Amino acid sequence: MITIIRNAKVYQPEYAGIKDVMLIGSQIGALGENLKADLGGAVEVKEIDGAGLILIPGIIDSHEHILGGGGEGGFHTRTPEATLTGLTLNGVTTVVGCIGTDGVARNMEALLAKAHALEEEGVTTYVYTGSYRVPVHTITGDVMRDIMLLDKVIGVGEVAISDHRSSQPTFEEFARIAADIRVGGMLSGKAGIVNVHMGDGPRMMDFIWRTVRETEIPFSQFLPTHVGRNAALFESALEFAKAGGTIDFTGSLDDDDEVPVSKGILRLLDAGVSSDHFTISSDGQGSLPIFNEKGEFQGLGVGNASCLLKELRECVNKAGLPLELALKPLTSNPARILKLARKGRILPGCDGDICLLREEDLSLHTVIAKGQIMVAEGTAVVRG
Ligand code: ZN
Repeated sequence: MITIIRNAKVYQPEYAGIKDVMLIGSQIGALGENLKADLGGAVEVKEIDGAGLILIPGIIDSHEHILGGGGEGGFHTRTPEATLTGLTLNGVTTVVGCIGTDGVARNMEALLAKAHALEEEGVTTYVYTGSYRVPVHTITGDVMRDIMLLDKVIGVGEVAISDHRSSQPTFEEFARIAADIRVGGMLSGKAGIVNVHMGDGPRMMDFIWRTVRETEIPFSQFLPTHVGRNAALFESALEFAKAGGTIDFTGSLDDDDEVPVSKGILRLLDAGVSSDHFTISSDGQGSLPIFNEKGEFQGLGVGNASCLLKELRECVNKAGLPLELALKPLTSNPARILKLARKGRILPGCDGDICLLREEDLSLHTVIAKGQIMVAEGTAVVRG
């Protein structure tokens, strides 16, 4: 099957002009003008008119609770699993699944099965091994074996620190996890990322700073998330990004975070942080509990992947960022930090993961995952 998208404004995420993109099977075959695929009718060629549409790489969500999460308000507040259309209708074609607070009733075997299910339905999935807890609950018995032996495991997490829900690991335990996943990642050609859940405790990113200062483990091993949670944490994360680390904002539907994503990104750029060094993830399907200052549970929301395109629009419309820059934290940046070589870019040889957005309001028009049309004119044509 060959699909040619004609005359779209192509963002790789760098702006490449008005071009045609040809998908051959599951991959991007060519990017150019007046592309032709004449195979004498031997292969079906489908054409999509991209005029007036913006073509971008499919979104990579580097932190989503695809299995659902435990709810901090008791069993009846457990949050629901992700669905295929919950991803595709929000432009997500690659997702990294993780387990959060509840690493008992939500376990790695079930997370891996869920990741395989979504992959069979058409999107690309990976997982972090573990949950908030240390020692890390793995599938094979330890984090190094998990990353080396299980294709879908690309890191560990989300390990919780500086949070009243954290298992309060010691620094040595934390550094050992980073060391093991790093070496396991090297041996298996994967990122070996430590996805770190940042709570709002006063120790903030101390363990991460100490690891890069007191050991030989580099900044690039960590992807701390929820960095906009409070102003002090954001300042620490800004310093981390300035020093060469990559930080992850959690998108939100109502900007109730202390540092909203678009404002945070402006601050980073003003401070001289490279536009390569931040990502945005959804925390989708995760429980978003509200606690008072005594740590007492007050209520709970559920994360949703729809925050990602909303944050993209805010970066462009509110913060005035050029679209090609606003796209990086959702596409090429997570691809780089997670070492997903064929993801996050519009280039021949990359996977055929593409979103078409309407130029006037950046709303979703079409989603293609691995060459398969999942969403057409805003409607899901493949359902889970
Ligand atoms: Zn978290």
